[in-house]
Amino acid sequence: MLTRSPDEAAAHIRAGRLAAFPTETVYGLGADAFQPDAVEAVFAAKGRPADNPLIVHLADAGRVDQVVATLPASADRLLDAFAPGPITCIVPRHPDLPSVVTAGLDTVGVRIPGHATAQAFLRACATPVAAPSANRSGRPSPTTWQAVQEDLDGRIACILQGDPTEAGVESTVVDCTADPPAVLRPGAVPVEALRAVLGTVEFPEEEASDDAPRSPGTKHRHYAPAARVHVVQESSEAESGEGTAYIGLDPPPAGDFAVVRRPADVEAYAHEVFAFFRECDRAGCADIYAQRVPPEGLGRALNDRLERAAAR
Ligand code: AMP
Ligand code: MG
Repeated sequence: MLTRSPDEAAAHIRAGRLAAFPTETVYGLGADAFQPDAVEAVFAAKGRPADNPLIVHLADAGRVDQVVATLPASADRLLDAFAPGPITCIVPRHPDLPSVVTAGLDTVGVRIPGHATAQAFLRACATPVAAPSANRSGRPSPTTWQAVQEDLDGRIACILQGDPTEAGVESTVVDCTADPPAVLRPGAVPVEALRAVLGTVEFPEEEASDDAPRSPGTKHRHYAPAARVHVVQESSEAESGEGTAYIGLDPPPAGDFAVVRRPADVEAYAHEVFAFFRECDRAGCADIYAQRVPPEGLGRALNDRLERAAAR
């Protein structure tokens, strides 16, 4: 069911049902973190592997005690600097938090979204809300309520409708139990901004190997359209053709492409890329050429999403 009322969506959460809601990054699929059956239903609705933990969403920092055992100093400083906003801190979990939320880990990811509708929704829920992105597992993240509907219609109780999301890439996930703190997933808060607050922050440019992922979610294929994604450095590497699409800051090479998108800058690119992937699927494209961007600021998160969408 579609609604524009945060209170109505929150009533579903309190009743143990699932509701999708907008945030400043992507749409989330929420369940009451303290109702294990509801949290299990999130995994089922998404087709999400059971070993991939969920981030717990709170309306404000005053409520972290409900889900967190102790708050490391680095997490305190990050929340101070970037919350409410697109930052997720991995911290020791409260023993009362159902283990299904954290996939059995003794840590929990905590986030306080800044988006006004998300805030109103979380306040009305009056309970911590466990929420991954509101897409079927592996698919591009949903940046519009229509994308949520495309993936999860009939599988969830409610979609709280909002505008298309602002950032388009997910929150930055930082392991605050590590010393120095480590970026597990690059995201909307650039690593440069983290370093300005914390000093040293580890940023594994490449995950060491698939055998020992730091963040369980990073080992799974992600963000991928049905089309094959080819990440290219130069736009000239893109091969035109029927059923072929191109997205990049530089103009595409001569020739016909079924779908072409040229975002004005890296921010616009990050904002548009998941919706573009979904558009390519609707157009029946077989191949997508996506041009890499300079690896700085938001560009690192964008390149990460492109590489993961290209992984087979
Ligand atoms: P999403 O599924 O889109 O919400 O992304 C959440 C990301 O945060 C995934 O990569 C998860 O594996 C990661 N994550 C959530 N909780 C934890 C945790 N306790 N420890 C490490 N990574 C986590
Ligand atoms: Mg996701």
